[in-house]
Amino acid sequence: MTAVWSVRLFCWVFVNRSLTLENIKCYGFDMDYTLAVYKSPEYESLGFELLRDRLVSMGYPHELLGYMYDPTFPTRGLVYDTTYGNLLKIDSNGNILVCTHGFEYLRGSVADCYCSVDEYYPNKFIQRDDTNRFYVLNTLFNLPETYLYACLVDFFTKSSRYKNCMKGFKHCDLFMSHRSTFQDIRDAMDYLHDTGTLKERTLKNLDKYVIKDPRLPVLLSRIKEVAKVFLATNSDFSYTEAIMKYLLDFPSGSKNPKKLWRSYFDLVVVDTKKPLFFAGGTVLRQVDTDTGKLRIGTYTGNLQHGTVYSGGSSDIVCDLLDVMGKDILYVGDHIFGDILKSKKRQGWKTFLVVPELVKELHVWADKASMFEELKHLDIFLAELYQHLDSGSQECPDISAIQNRIKMVTYGMDLCYGKVGSLLRCGSTKTLFASQLLRYADIYSTSCLNLLNYPFSYLFRAPLVLVSLSCLTILEYHSTRPAYIGPMIPSL
Ligand SMILES: [Mg+2]
Repeated sequence: MTAVWSVRLFCWVFVNRSLTLENIKCYGFDMDYTLAVYKSPEYESLGFELLRDRLVSMGYPHELLGYMYDPTFPTRGLVYDTTYGNLLKIDSNGNILVCTHGFEYLRGSVADCYCSVDEYYPNKFIQRDDTNRFYVLNTLFNLPETYLYACLVDFFTKSSRYKNCMKGFKHCDLFMSHRSTFQDIRDAMDYLHDTGTLKERTLKNLDKYVIKDPRLPVLLSRIKEVAKVFLATNSDFSYTEAIMKYLLDFPSGSKNPKKLWRSYFDLVVVDTKKPLFFAGGTVLRQVDTDTGKLRIGTYTGNLQHGTVYSGGSSDIVCDLLDVMGKDILYVGDHIFGDILKSKKRQGWKTFLVVPELVKELHVWADKASMFEELKHLDIFLAELYQHLDSGSQECPDISAIQNRIKMVTYGMDLCYGKVGSLLRCGSTKTLFASQLLRYADIYSTSCLNLLNYPFSYLFRAPLVLVSLSCLTILEYHSTRPAYIGPMIPSL
């Protein structure tokens, strides 16, 4: 794959289910990490430092201040086991693909090793529905927190003052369970959120933390010419106002007269409390845009242009804009809060923004030889069994191939970061990838990539036989099809 191709891939919108843009009557946008893309790793570093400092102020050891955010470690979609303090990468069924304890990678059954995956999870499997024990770190906002879980386990494991136990650490008469450190980090997150500390620091230095792209007002203006547009964000009014003003405020010229940010939208709803917004929702109130305060009482009137609303629900949005769920394309970055719920509860068309795809596509393009090798190993494996059936006594020795597959998979994972790809472990799809395939109709690195398609465009889903592409079957029809194609389904 050439460099030109890999650059072009960043501009593509990938397709899971066919979607005709011509039929879309209304475009909805989330704000944080969708319209407002935060600079990485600066923004995550800020979040990490505020969290870490909060823990120290709560009484955690001062040595923690020595930890700095490492963007190569965390990957979105990891699961934190609050019983054993491990970070897990899993597939959609709960099978463990990667397991770390602090920054130590746990392997399968290792003789004489206290820290093996088997020790914690004999079936290499978790009941991921046990949400009381397993916490899925689903959003980009969770990345600093993910790294902090690893830092705490690393610190207490290495500190001579603390004794390591399976479920926590002991210091004299004190037992500090992984569960309690988890709760402390969650409390620290709530503190940052409730006091608005992270938002305050972000607004003080918008150039440092938020990407400002002149193509955004162009995209929103073009969409507004052909369809209705709304913003539905969980952020409050004052933060939304400051961020959107920054994003859409460009010097006016003859072609682009100065516009209020709210004029790019037919409807603006803040404090949406997604995912609740897609179910019962909350009371819809009007926001006094001069003071930022909410007007008392529930709003029951018609849509007023330029008015900002707070709360509400997806049903109310449909009523106010006079559109049906199937007419809406909703663009968001949160696989659960934005995409899964809007698709499952309301049948909206969904566009998932996955900024990490830039890295995924880079690796896919730059390390094509590794994907090829994995593909050939699978074909070689299939060929070994080609002339055998259930009556065969012969048992081919596949251990060398298995070892090679493990090595190539491990090498591939390292190309993405310390816990590997967001989407896969070798040829196994992660939980995040499975949800992306199931709930996102289309997905891309940025919503700005919609600029590359006319509003009459038909996004066509690839022809697949379950998860095996027809192209793959045709390509390898002479062998038993054992290879499941790379996780870039629309290529
Ligand atoms: Mg968001």
